[in-house]
Amino acid sequence: MGHVIKNVMNPEGIPTVEYPEVKKVMHDRYRGAHRLTTKDDGSIKCVACMCCPTVCPANCITIVAGEGEGDVEKYPVRFEIDMLRCIFCGFCVEACPKDAIRMDSAIYAVNGYNRQDMVYTKPYMQDLMDGEKSNSATHYKDNPEDAPVGYRVEIKPTTSSVAE
Ligand code: SF4
Ligand code: SF4
Repeated sequence: MGHVIKNVMNPEGIPTVEYPEVKKVMHDRYRGAHRLTTKDDGSIKCVACMCCPTVCPANCITIVAGEGEGDVEKYPVRFEIDMLRCIFCGFCVEACPKDAIRMDSAIYAVNGYNRQDMVYTKPYMQDLMDGEKSNSATHYKDNPEDAPVGYRVEIKPTTSSVAE
């Protein structure tokens, strides 16, 4: 009764988020949608070592490796995660020796209109956030212009982002 009276007297204090117009700011350690990080020159950090698909208990990561150039031995020609199968355990992030995959996007609106929308592709996960920017929820809060589109509106890979 105390809470009811308090909320009736002070409706502004009710911690209700007007979703989807307002997105909830997640804790820094929240496991959100995966993103693939990049180096300073914009190239992908992933070296297609296959550690993440090996540890993935849901078997939802598909990587096709290609030969790299210079000191890069391999890189992922194709990197996909079937988000319908992912259980957000975070094993892929922990297993990665290159800090190439992260779940710190704070994006929880993982949805789509069909099954294909739910298969996140390399370009889509690279676009999710600039790899060199801070990616925490705190950063979004202080720099809303840096928040990825999916965070501000809704996650829905476009046809062009699905294509390699
Ligand atoms: S979070 Fe877990 S289930 Fe999802 S892709 Fe990573 S290892 Fe697989
Ligand atoms: S994301 Fe990391 S663990 Fe997965 S293949 Fe690339 S380098 Fe290896």
